[in-house]
Amino acid sequence: MSPRIDLHTHSTASDGTDSPTDLVVAAAAAEIDVLAITDHDTTAGWREASAALPPGMTLVPGAELSCVSESGAGGANTAGRRISVHLLAYLFDPNAEGVVTEQRRLRAERRSRLRTMAERMAADGVPIDPDELLGALPADAPAGRPHLARALIDAGLASSVDEAFASYLGGGRGYYVPRSDTPVLRAIDMINDAGGVTVLAHPLAYSRGPTVSLATIAEMAAHGLTGIEVDHPNHDQPTREKLRALAAELDLLPTGSSDYHGTNKDIPLGAETTDPDVFADLVSRATGCGVVAGAAG
Ligand code: AMP
Ligand code: FE
Ligand code: FE
Ligand code: ZN
Repeated sequence: MSPRIDLHTHSTASDGTDSPTDLVVAAAAAEIDVLAITDHDTTAGWREASAALPPGMTLVPGAELSCVSESGAGGANTAGRRISVHLLAYLFDPNAEGVVTEQRRLRAERRSRLRTMAERMAADGVPIDPDELLGALPADAPAGRPHLARALIDAGLASSVDEAFASYLGGGRGYYVPRSDTPVLRAIDMINDAGGVTVLAHPLAYSRGPTVSLATIAEMAAHGLTGIEVDHPNHDQPTREKLRALAAELDLLPTGSSDYHGTNKDIPLGAETTDPDVFADLVSRATGCGVVAGAAG
């Protein structure tokens, strides 16, 4: 039987509900042979997932980088607009200078952005203490609005994270400050320089907001992008066909993945998978770090 390969999953190192250990245990139960761990903007889960790997399973260290495309979008009314894009990065050296420097910049930016949001609230009479908020942030995870949501709940101002987003953390109330994500072409360079490979995550997931144009994907391909996620739960059949044709045209590797988030989403591990030959091609192009094989039993 050909191996089952799922190249996009999240753990509690970002916004999944399974610890890295539980993630690989769940993957074994789902008869996954090759699992990539791709937490948002962090490699913090790699070590634990590697240590928990059962015999016969292969782990692909990765991350899903929050990026911005400045080349405009596909739909109407979006020309020239900055589009948020997710870039899957695999098998890069997490200690490469470019990666470390960018992570440090993003972490600092996220903290000061959260402080500004808290200060705007405090100035408006919302009982949130910016110093207290900053002091309580985890040292090892990117700070984000979910932390401020938690503080609002603790202060009795919201009853759930969703309510905190709806009432305080969206664009409506004037507290929101945008993130300063990495420009996607810079992120592609950074991962290539770190010996890794990049795959554009859910390129045409319309339900998530504005998406990039096919011309912008071609621009990324010319810039050294390795693949695009074709089979993703947010892509319908015509979208997959369009992306498969684009991958063939641009010589991009077409991957498939579940984007598993534990109980935060309904999609099970292995709901979408990657062709073994495509996976072998992907691995052959990476030099930053190796895949991790579960110790033989
Ligand atoms: P940030 O990265 O600081 O802009 O915060 C966005 C993060 O908050 C996303 O990764 C979401 O997973 C999380 N989040 C949780 N609940 C919500 C919600 N109701 N609306 C938007 N984002 C949410
Ligand atoms: Fe997520
Ligand atoms: Fe994503
Ligand atoms: Zn994801």
